[in-house]
Amino acid sequence: MTRSTLSHLECGKCGAIYDANQLINLCPACGKPLLVRYDLAKAAQTLTPAALAERPANLWRYEEVLPVVRNDARLMLGEGWTPLIWASSLGNEIGCPNTLIKDESLNPTGSFKARGLAMAVSRAYELGATEIAIPSAGNAAGAMSAYAAAAGLKAHVFMPADVPMPFRVECAQLGATVTLVDGLITDCGVKVREGAQKYGWFDVSTLKEPYRIEGKKTMGYELAEQLGWTLPDVIIYPTGGGTGLVGMWKAFDEMEQMGLIGSKRPRMVTVQSDGCAPMVRAFDQGNEFAEMWQGAKTVADGLRVPAAVGDFLILRALRESGGTALTVTDQEMLHYTRVMGAHTGIFPAPEGAATLAAQVHLLNRGWIRADETVVLFNTGTGLKYAHLWA
Ligand SMILES: *Cc1c(COP(=O)(O)O)cnc(C)c1O
Repeated sequence: MTRSTLSHLECGKCGAIYDANQLINLCPACGKPLLVRYDLAKAAQTLTPAALAERPANLWRYEEVLPVVRNDARLMLGEGWTPLIWASSLGNEIGCPNTLIKDESLNPTGSFKARGLAMAVSRAYELGATEIAIPSAGNAAGAMSAYAAAAGLKAHVFMPADVPMPFRVECAQLGATVTLVDGLITDCGVKVREGAQKYGWFDVSTLKEPYRIEGKKTMGYELAEQLGWTLPDVIIYPTGGGTGLVGMWKAFDEMEQMGLIGSKRPRMVTVQSDGCAPMVRAFDQGNEFAEMWQGAKTVADGLRVPAAVGDFLILRALRESGGTALTVTDQEMLHYTRVMGAHTGIFPAPEGAATLAAQVHLLNRGWIRADETVVLFNTGTGLKYAHLWA
């Protein structure tokens, strides 16, 4: 058995409580995402800075606050514990010396999606799923295919027909059944729901099952641990479905309850492409939920998400943190890929470059001060997008 202190599931909207010991998707009462709750008082007894220093360099080091209960259900391909890099040359170039990059491109399958899918697929496997399905415009499908292969589960992937070749080929070579759909990720989601109803596949879409966010929250734990149990002034995150941002926000709360950090929080910043910016629009309009974005178009496949089930959780985290939301253009992403690359040695995905473009805008506006500590998330490797510069 792991040291998991998994307790129950709680709806993020209506607060209804559910047994965690079952395969479950959205809240049966209100259709919103379910969040995982732990016995944090118990977790705090063993999840200490000293104990962590002895643990393996992967995300399973936070086992007390992860949902997987059986040791043999943990699917391990080297996920997590990515480097947090002081980007001083880049920081000096843009006039913000304390700029750091959390480089998620070193995860299995080259993106932070490995964290979420390691957890979701491990837990689905633990709870007896045999076939799993996902709609994805890119990296999520590759990560899901990898962990399904590790578990010996059948994987069904639905991707927009115009998805770049590397994403599609990766899934196929990892043994998944890939179906190309004429449309967007939301259309792929419809296909997954049909298959789930017809064939009993388990749907591991973003925030439609409770555990992906648990894998992604480990970015928040790692950030605090790597900064000596402090947090930066600002975190800039390229936001699609929002599990990364919502997960970190949840992690900070849990860490405070366990006494690992104090009450200071970073200002959370969402960056989206101006070709698909439902969260930025909803943030600017002061809305609780985001309207579907029509005609979504961007080279950043991870940001081509016209509607997010967790929209209210993203917007809540941005507002509670005193954060903000802004768009950048695809041209800026392509440009800042090279700026980041040439000043750091990291070849970022366009989504990662978007965080740097956003930082420059926010410095110019005076929203970020030159002496503040800023963490950029490079969420994936640029290699899968090499066609954009070819
Ligand atoms: C999926 C993805 C994102 C968006 O992440 P969310 O947690 O869904 O908001 C950002 N960058 C990359 C490279 C991605 O694959």
